[in-house]
Amino acid sequence: MPSAATPAATGPGAVPASVPHPLPASASGPVVALDIGGTKIAGALVDAGGRILARSRRETPAREDAETVLGAVAQVLDALAASPFWDAAQAVGIGSAGPVDAARGTVSPVNVPGWRDFPLVERVRRITGGRPVTLVGDGVAMTAAEHWLGAARGHANALCLVVSTGVGGGLVLDGRLHPGPTGNAGHIGHLSVDLDGDPCACGGRGCVERIAAGPHLARHALDQGWRPGPDGDTSAVAVAEAARAGHPVAVAAFERAARALAAGIAATAHLVEVDIAVVGGGVAAAGDVLFAPLRRALGDYATLSFARGLTVVPAATGTDAGLLGAAAAARATADGG
Ligand SMILES: [Zn+2]
Repeated sequence: MPSAATPAATGPGAVPASVPHPLPASASGPVVALDIGGTKIAGALVDAGGRILARSRRETPAREDAETVLGAVAQVLDALAASPFWDAAQAVGIGSAGPVDAARGTVSPVNVPGWRDFPLVERVRRITGGRPVTLVGDGVAMTAAEHWLGAARGHANALCLVVSTGVGGGLVLDGRLHPGPTGNAGHIGHLSVDLDGDPCACGGRGCVERIAAGPHLARHALDQGWRPGPDGDTSAVAVAEAARAGHPVAVAAFERAARALAAGIAATAHLVEVDIAVVGGGVAAAGDVLFAPLRRALGDYATLSFARGLTVVPAATGTDAGLLGAAAAARATADGG
């Protein structure tokens, strides 16, 4: 997920925004957005146009107990409550690292072991004075952001992917965010694209994530003989640099990841007729090193007539995608879907 928020957004208080007058408390007013990940907890007040009116951020005390982690969330919310826009905010949206269970209002983020089936929705509802709280997974949140303000804007049927340390995603169908019953629909990372492939952390085999996620891509490059530079960086970012310089093993590692992504995207297009796939996350930041082979490979897999017009584009909402997506999810719920 996009995790590197701007350093200026860190610090103890909500950063005041330069908007002259509080908005009226109405459906067009601001919402409270929370973006919860394994390294940081970001919060914002987001208005109906997607402007961030106030923001706050804390490191995630990821190794601490459940209440300590919640305490960091409460600090973020307290800082936002100091904003003159707080009283007008009538709903809360949360995008969280998964797994989430939106039906039960619980989260169990892989990188926050203190939270297992943690009742985040109820606890945040209490902290925020009984405001309604909408929970979605971070892939769905990014999708909501891209549909509202980013590269999927205006598309009634879209798939959005986050290709980073894992591969997540989400769907827009018939013009609406489609989170599914538990907030996890569109989780393209665990579509199997290699039936006899390597075992995946999810218990499956040959998943898109097992091939295309940054750490797996980099490990494959190492296994095939790529070696890092003097700085010893063996991340996918370093492999991308080598690929740009023409290192054949690095190029092949990105082509392999691109084929896995293309197969997953094509399967999705054949299944539910999306006409655009938006790809964000750290691995997607490699740019043409990923997108060029991805577009080529789509031609091999998206073969049916109705899927041939499928386009693949980079995500556009940047480091605030999680916050904007959480806000969009809160608004979608408030608007009845
Ligand atoms: Zn898997």
